[in-house]
Amino acid sequence: MIYYTCKYAPVEMMAGFGQTCERLDPNPANFECADSCAHQNLCGFAKAVIEEIHQKKIKELIITDCCDSMRRINDVLKNSGWLDFLYFLPLPHTGGEKFFAKELENLCEAYSEYSGIPFDLDKALAAFQPPQKEPSGPYIRFTGAHGGHMLKKRVEATFPGIPIVDDTCTGNRAMERVADADNFFEDYAEILLHQKACMRMWNVRNRTMLHPPIGTIYHTIKFCDYYGFEYMNMKEDTKMPLLKIETDTTPQSSGQIKTRLDAFAETVTNNVEDLHVNIDRDHFLVAGIDSGSTSTDVIIMNEKQAILASTIVPTGAGATRTARQALDLALNSAHKTIDDIDLVVTTGYGRENIAPNTMSITEITCHAKGAHYLDPKAKTVIDIGGQDSKVIRIDEDGRVENFVMNDKCAAGTGRFLDMQARALEISLKEMSALGLEWKKDVTISSMCTVFAESEVVSLVAENVATPDIIHGLNKAVASKTATLVTRVKGEPEYIMTGGVAQNKGVVTCLEEKLGAKIFISSQAQSCGAIGAALLGIEAIQR
Ligand code: ADP
Repeated sequence: MIYYTCKYAPVEMMAGFGQTCERLDPNPANFECADSCAHQNLCGFAKAVIEEIHQKKIKELIITDCCDSMRRINDVLKNSGWLDFLYFLPLPHTGGEKFFAKELENLCEAYSEYSGIPFDLDKALAAFQPPQKEPSGPYIRFTGAHGGHMLKKRVEATFPGIPIVDDTCTGNRAMERVADADNFFEDYAEILLHQKACMRMWNVRNRTMLHPPIGTIYHTIKFCDYYGFEYMNMKEDTKMPLLKIETDTTPQSSGQIKTRLDAFAETVTNNVEDLHVNIDRDHFLVAGIDSGSTSTDVIIMNEKQAILASTIVPTGAGATRTARQALDLALNSAHKTIDDIDLVVTTGYGRENIAPNTMSITEITCHAKGAHYLDPKAKTVIDIGGQDSKVIRIDEDGRVENFVMNDKCAAGTGRFLDMQARALEISLKEMSALGLEWKKDVTISSMCTVFAESEVVSLVAENVATPDIIHGLNKAVASKTATLVTRVKGEPEYIMTGGVAQNKGVVTCLEEKLGAKIFISSQAQSCGAIGAALLGIEAIQR
């Protein structure tokens, strides 16, 4: 078995040796091996390839010179001595069919010499497969850098019944015709090079689809230099439903990716608007439960959208148990029992694990709906919770138009502030008030929670006043959040939801950055639960 990494690898030619080629599709759990033999900043795909070759004891590999990371992989693997046949195939990035034909011939000779197998042209010609046709109906385009089978499966599961076209750099290999037998190498070089270009190629004009998809999921890889630029250009077209997902090919942050995909599906397919529950439309009670990373919020609403009870309980270790406790508290305060509740709608990270037979909707869609209820003029929702922050642009009915979420780590989230409050030995309430009393403008340079904490400890040691340090932290959170607002092309009226909306210092800094007032409701932290309850009411009244 010969493995390869990119679509320009001559898979059909290698079939001429009676060999099967398989594309490496690594999803390592971590980079234990790659981090010890390659630079930390090597792209996630390159690290994953090294990890896979080491773990699966792969012996034959063709690497294409499609980007600098591939060169680094080649260096590492050459030194490792793990492989019996390692071939680095130079790839022209503009024109160069004759050059590439010669390189293909060289590879052919090298493999024949290594294996002792003669090249059989007929076998190679028989290996050409016709290209797959683009679907004529609605479809989702999965594009950008190598996504891998795990992410693709997740995308497929998110859009049941809708075809997914894998147009990622490794997923769209297609030979438009069988190569000419009399002029095999030159003709084959031309066919290989004229596939839909990868972003490393000079001319990328053919990177389009015949008819537009209903949504595009754009995958980028951490530390990849090429695909981020194409995404930036695509983003300019605000009418195109587009979701960016960045991974390093490991399952890290899969919870966030699921939320993003589910929210994108809710936006693109309007599937929430198809939900219907058959209950007496005139008199009913709905509970909305937002099971967040830090707090679990419950709202009980009647058919007239009036809030009968609202509770907020720390999530703690058991999301399901806490949800039940929070619901019981809300039922008590509304003088109702669980039997009085006609529908439970869940949202938040724990939404799918609270109870069977409940309706569950992502916090993006719920915050949008809840924010519209709290402020019907709102156009941009800024939600900073304990674990992530999101900015959502909404339409005049509280539907999601576009959203972005912060990436993976705690930077710019409630957790970031909680950790610094602990380092300063103050409560969140004190932090909120003291943040307004600053005198000297201090800058905290690191957004990494751990590094920022050491900056805070150093500032404390230098006797810098606590309000000044807090203001530095608030500015850091505000600037990270303002970047998200710009990415989603947010505009006033702004509303802030989530627990951090109670932090007056952060809100003031953010208002300064945005140059506009932000509306804060007294129900800001329960916005997700309010949205969940409202969507439940709509599903009943539909
Ligand atoms: P999640 O939805 O992830 O559970 P929340 O929306 O409940 O998160 O927000 C939790 C965050 O809100 C905490 O990390 C904390 O920083 C912030 N927060 C909660 N209460 C207060 C408060 N009284 N003052 C300032 N910040 C607060």
